[in-house]
Amino acid sequence: MHERPTPALPAKPPFVVRGRLLTPLDDGGTRFEADGEVGVDSRGRIAWVGIWSERPAASQAEEDAGGPPADEVPIVDLRPWLLLPGMVDLHAHLPQLPNAGLGAGLDLLAWLERYIFPLEEAFDVASARTLAPAAYRAFAHAGTTTAVLYGAVYEPSLDEAFRAAEEHGIRAVIGKVMMDRVTYDDRLARDEILELSLRQSADLCARWHGRDDGRLQYAFTPRFAVSCTAEMLRESARLARETGAYWMTHLSEDRHEGETVRRLFPEAIDYLDVYDRADGLGERSIFAHAIHLSPREIERLRESGSRIAHCPASNLFLASGVMQLARYLDAGLSVGLGSDVAAGPDLSMFAQMRVGAYTQNALRTVQGESRPMLTPLEWLRMGSLDGARVLGIEDVAGSLEIGKDADLIAVDASFTAPLPGIDSDDPAELASRLIFRDHPDMVQAAWVRGRLLPS
Ligand SMILES: [Zn+2]
Repeated sequence: MHERPTPALPAKPPFVVRGRLLTPLDDGGTRFEADGEVGVDSRGRIAWVGIWSERPAASQAEEDAGGPPADEVPIVDLRPWLLLPGMVDLHAHLPQLPNAGLGAGLDLLAWLERYIFPLEEAFDVASARTLAPAAYRAFAHAGTTTAVLYGAVYEPSLDEAFRAAEEHGIRAVIGKVMMDRVTYDDRLARDEILELSLRQSADLCARWHGRDDGRLQYAFTPRFAVSCTAEMLRESARLARETGAYWMTHLSEDRHEGETVRRLFPEAIDYLDVYDRADGLGERSIFAHAIHLSPREIERLRESGSRIAHCPASNLFLASGVMQLARYLDAGLSVGLGSDVAAGPDLSMFAQMRVGAYTQNALRTVQGESRPMLTPLEWLRMGSLDGARVLGIEDVAGSLEIGKDADLIAVDASFTAPLPGIDSDDPAELASRLIFRDHPDMVQAAWVRGRLLPS
């Protein structure tokens, strides 16, 4: 079934890859070419994308700009593999990867105590040095080229995580977890945690935010309202505003958590209002989960331009709840997908699409929805271009279009076939199999800016 020899994959730009092309488009809709190509220039940008037989003559302009002679640009035929944009994972926890798939049946707070805090507490430099490169390879192997990652509370381990991302080539947003109310490390002097955490986070941001021409970015990362004081939330949001970095946290994941937040912040109208009072809402703010929201909270998220990382597999794994996705999309919220590993058991964004689709289907059978179901192509968009929009990087990633960075993956769709020799050249059918029959080894290559990622 998969006996075809692997072609030599281009390791760095410039190059041209020929294959079946499937991508969402900025202006809406999807482009599919049964015999397409992506031309990557020497800076790692998409210089041309389209039908193979219509490809322009090799670029003299490129050669004139100092690139290699146009006739020396390698052309690699990857047919019948699919060329897709790299997937965007808006929410995952780097130190937690080793415990992915463990702890089903526990609720959020019990699961954190038993399976997560011990791992994060052990996330020192040595641990990060081993784990981070392996994690980035695993993301690339799953087809994820942009990952938004929570670390642990220790500054040196975050430097290590950034260094490994710089070396690996993945596009990443990373943040040191901030906790000054409930934390897992008694060695941190309680009265110094706030100041220490803010200072270390600001230092990390200064060192890493915008590194490699914006490939690496920083996110100030107060874990969630249960583990942070109002001052921590407010000061971290201020730092994010001042530096242009992201601000990310968890919002309304679990009902038990929601009750705790109400008790801790009696002055707030609702959960979102805790973050609103900290000046934490806005277009650079990414809220993970956000599943138990009132109409007021949905409207306030929309009005503030805040962004949502929808983590459907995690929500079912921990029995946290079900997102009323149709309401959010109808309200015009900016929503992308997150694996939330390790609360989500699977790194693959295709798995998130599948679980998300099943969840919404189940919701319809219970509630009856007037909105049409999302199609496989729409789920594919949510895991790629919509994710890039959540991050505000849709001008550089998320789809295969001229002028964007060459963040792309090559997928052998034969892994998704129910029987050998079964294939399709219908884009909706291809997307459907990628999502509902995804295979852990189907992604054959992933590039960021035309650089092949170790996987
Ligand atoms: Zn999370």
